[in-house]
Amino acid sequence: MPIRPENRRRYPADWPEISLSIRTERAGGRCECRGQCGTGHRGRCEARNGGPHPDTGSLVALTVAHLDHQPENCAPSNLMAACQRCHLAYDRKHHRQTAAATRRAALEEAGQQPLFLEPALDECEPEWEPRRRPVVAVPGPDVWPVRPEVRCA
Ligand SMILES: [Zn+2]
Ligand SMILES: [Zn+2]
Repeated sequence: MPIRPENRRRYPADWPEISLSIRTERAGGRCECRGQCGTGHRGRCEARNGGPHPDTGSLVALTVAHLDHQPENCAPSNLMAACQRCHLAYDRKHHRQTAAATRRAALEEAGQQPLFLEPALDECEPEWEPRRRPVVAVPGPDVWPVRPEVRCA
């Protein structure tokens, strides 16, 4: 995943070297994801740098993911060499959780019941049942007269 401009300065100066050593020395050029991404592959991902992706067939360019999503934390235990597919899926999961938490917090702050929101996306995986939307007691436009009745005197 390309480093976002606003996050660039959160990476240490030697990030390129750290990233390279994780991808080559530790990972041996193979995606290290063992299912953390949630895409459902069994065991370690088969994607190898420079080869076709086993699922998508597109060229794999190995990247390095931060497991806690904090670019400052470059401890080897927080890093995972990942193919684009696993990296994107892993980040997306986090993004959903963050977005859902933000929505919940905003609602709670507004004094509303978060229960009636759309189901939080982090609760949507792998399968989810949509929560019923609350029945709104306001008549729809089909109930309202389009224009007031004109009465002749
Ligand atoms: Zn992978
Ligand atoms: Zn994966």
